[in-house]
Amino acid sequence: MIENKAVKSARAEEVVRLLKKEYPDSKCSLNYSNPHELLVATILSAQCTDHRVNQVLPELFNSYPSVKAFAFADLNKLSQEIYPCGYHNQKAKSIQGSSLAIMNDHGGKVPQTMEELIKLPGVGRKTANCILGECFGYPSMVIDTHMIRIMNLLQFATSKDPKKIELELMEVFNKRDWVKLTHMVIDHGRAVCIARRPQCDQCVLQDLCPSVLR
Ligand code: SF4
Repeated sequence: MIENKAVKSARAEEVVRLLKKEYPDSKCSLNYSNPHELLVATILSAQCTDHRVNQVLPELFNSYPSVKAFAFADLNKLSQEIYPCGYHNQKAKSIQGSSLAIMNDHGGKVPQTMEELIKLPGVGRKTANCILGECFGYPSMVIDTHMIRIMNLLQFATSKDPKKIELELMEVFNKRDWVKLTHMVIDHGRAVCIARRPQCDQCVLQDLCPSVLR
């Protein structure tokens, strides 16, 4: 489908309108109470469901109640505690390393810029965007597997590369919708546009989607 930018942006606006109607309460499904807890939760959520991460978090935050506690954690012990989330050794290193860097370089406070966040060990654009949008109110989009798949189906994206997709989407979606868009698309990917069996006949976006199965 060939669309000029104005037509594509108008379609994007309508997609957002319909998704907001369908998923008015969409929000981050990880449980956290401050930016550092979200950083930890997001690192744990790689290749793991938010549900499982949320099961591990209460005890974890109880054992490590501060950035400092995570920064000086025993790696083996931490690794065992996050075992159910998978990739536990790597994730433990990322959590401990990023917490130590926050203590050493940022006075114990999670930094508020993309540039500083992605310098933290184990923190990529996805985690950084999540923190910037959720905790600090910056317009940002988290490009996860649902966003990659559904934005390609909707032909707002033409790549599998999250950074390229982020730039493509920033061109067509209104800044005020960026944070909420990710959450609504994740909900849509779980409920209707399911990876192996999209339920196009029940999809509110069917008239706007070039990939609709009729
Ligand atoms: S119409 Fe089908 S492919 Fe398009 S977004 Fe909806 S469920 Fe997904």
